[in-house]
Formats: sequence, structure tokens, C-alpha cells
Amino acid sequence: MQHLKVVTTSWDDGDPRDLRIAELLRHRGLMGTFYVPITGYLGGKTLATADLRSLTFEGFEIGAHTVSHRSLPALSLKEQVHEVRACKQMLEQRLGSKVRMFCYTNGCYDGRVIREVKKAGYEGARTVRMLSVKTRFAAYEMPVTVQAYPHDKSRYRRNLGRARNISGLVNYLTELRRFDSWVELGKRLFNQVLEHGGIWHLYGHSWEIDQLGIWPDLTEMLDYVSRRDGVTYVTNARLLSMASV
Ligand SMILES: [Zn+2]
Repeated sequence: MQHLKVVTTSWDDGDPRDLRIAELLRHRGLMGTFYVPITGYLGGKTLATADLRSLTFEGFEIGAHTVSHRSLPALSLKEQVHEVRACKQMLEQRLGSKVRMFCYTNGCYDGRVIREVKKAGYEGARTVRMLSVKTRFAAYEMPVTVQAYPHDKSRYRRNLGRARNISGLVNYLTELRRFDSWVELGKRLFNQVLEHGGIWHLYGHSWEIDQLGIWPDLTEMLDYVSRRDGVTYVTNARLLSMASV
């Protein structure tokens, strides 16, 4: 388990530009999970049922991302239950298969939210806790490694501090802070996984990648981590069944 080397990716919000992500992944033998709300982020469009089905058919995973993309902790229990459960049911109806994973909208959750996600029958949930390469994590608090987004450095420090991710913080302060771009940071963390084992998890939003014009950066990042000996490429749900959680 210690020398497990895994790459997974996940993509939030179900924007139709996710199809471009799928194409980049497909051509590189990479896997991923697409977290899809019923109503898109800021009322945007989401993937058509036919697209969701064909993504599933070729081995990608569709996960749930609430009904209306609202942050969950501030909602009433009734609203939370609806957001978490109806999304699963509607996606399952469209797909004709089980939806196993959930992703917290805006990265927001608390103990009550986790309880509802568990009760709804999800096997795990993804957070936005960054800079993790650990093989052990709580199933309903799956961390990520890097986001396809040019964060400034204080964002990483705040993210690690909030998550009380001490090893991540030490790693960042001693090794990673000199890397200026998210791609360089991603490469460095991937090298750590190659050397010591671990999980490398890239996440992002296709609409944001498009707005920022960082498709070339994403391509470079995906090229770097693909087709490596000894590395397993999986969806988020598959990762959950491999990792010791
Ligand atoms: Zn989202």
C-alpha cells in the first residue's frame, strides 16, 4: 500500500466544456470523475444525458454535486437532504447506473453534511483540500493534490492551515513554495509520488480553464503524468476502493 502510485482526476460543475477535458484524458489513458449538479454553477448549462451516458460507457465516472450548486452547511436539514439525495436519484435515473461519489459544492461541509451524504448512500466525497499525496484519508474527506488554476501562494498556505494538514504545510514550506506555476507544483508533487508512492489528484473546472485560457497548461500537466510505468490511473470511486480509508 505504501508504494501505491495512483493518478486520478476530477472535474466539477458538469459544464459542457467537460467534453474537451474528457478528450484530453482519453488520448492519454487517464481516468476521471465528473461531478455534475442538476442546475449548473451560476445557472449555467450542464452536460446532456447522452453525454453523461457516453462518458460512463467509456469508463469515466459521474459523481453528484448537489441539485442547485448551493453551499450545504448553511441550509436547513430539509434542504440539505434534498440537495444531496435528489441529485443522486436524478443522475442515477439518467445514467441507469449507480452514483457512488459526491463532491461538496464550493468545498463547504461540516459534520452534519457528512452525515447526510453517508445516509444518502454515497461511498465517499471529495473536498478541495489541496497538496495531499497521502494514501490514507477519510472516505468522506477525499483530498486533492493540485487544482488546474493559478492560485497565489497565500491561498495554498491558508488551505493547508484550515485543513490542519501539517505534513502538507511542511512539505509546502520546505519544498514547494519556490514553484511559481501550478503546473510546476503539480509536476513536483507527481515526482514525489513516483519516488515514494502516493496519490496524485488533479481537479478543476472546464469553464474556468476556458475563461483563463489555460488549456495549454492543462495539456502540459496531463502529458507529464500520463503513461508512466507502475502508475495506476483510476476514477475517484475506484481510488476509494484501493486506498486504505
Ligand atoms: Zn462546483
